[in-house]
Amino acid sequence: MPIEKAHAIVLRLVDFSETSQVVTLFTREFGKIGALAKGAHRQKGPFDSALDLLTLARVVFLRKSSGGLDLLTEAKLEHRFRPPDHDLTPLFAGYYLAELLLGLTDEYDPHPELFDVAAKTLHTLSREGKVNISPLILSFEMNALRLLGHLPNLEQCVECGKPIAIEGYVAFGQSSGGVLCRRCRPGKKHVSQIRGESLKTLQWYSRCEDNSHQAPPYLISGEVRGVINHSISHLLGREPRMQKHLQFLIQD
Ligand SMILES: [Zn+2]
Repeated sequence: MPIEKAHAIVLRLVDFSETSQVVTLFTREFGKIGALAKGAHRQKGPFDSALDLLTLARVVFLRKSSGGLDLLTEAKLEHRFRPPDHDLTPLFAGYYLAELLLGLTDEYDPHPELFDVAAKTLHTLSREGKVNISPLILSFEMNALRLLGHLPNLEQCVECGKPIAIEGYVAFGQSSGGVLCRRCRPGKKHVSQIRGESLKTLQWYSRCEDNSHQAPPYLISGEVRGVINHSISHLLGREPRMQKHLQFLIQD
């Protein structure tokens, strides 16, 4: 069994026995992994309180070759996810981030850039003071969709490739995976009409690869959230469980 070292974000912890836990980690080097952490509940142990939801840690694990659980042997805390306790919204946003990484990534399919964006987002959510969560999360979602190859086509017609003229309302084909021009739209199923302004907002966030930016001159409307929620639900095969707690992401 090879010994591996990685940077990791703790996505899920499930008790396995009185002393052990099964942990799901999103690692920078290997993508998602599932590992058994023996003695995770002991006060003094090899994990030194690093195994907590959304913690960033440096980990050492033994990689199982036969598809079983890996064995976590060490975890060293790098950053604890601890949003200010007077406000639940950064906490919910963090749980949502964990749910997306769990649902949208595969085991041993590394996405180092996505790891970096997630780590940065968690740092920002833990910050004291007012954090503008709505743009931060939309930016994370857009980056995740882009880096995993699922970004909807927002610039050209998804059918014919013609650039989309933003005037009045624009047709967005939910099952086509992007905007549709007037010629290609007839006969398509699951098409919603979105305001040009909403498409501009989506385009702005899809082009923006850094999530430390200032908020753009657009509000994140219910319509914008609707397009993103639908894209993500489609990929997950269900609505995110955190969805009902995320009404605060709508800015209008
Ligand atoms: Zn077209």
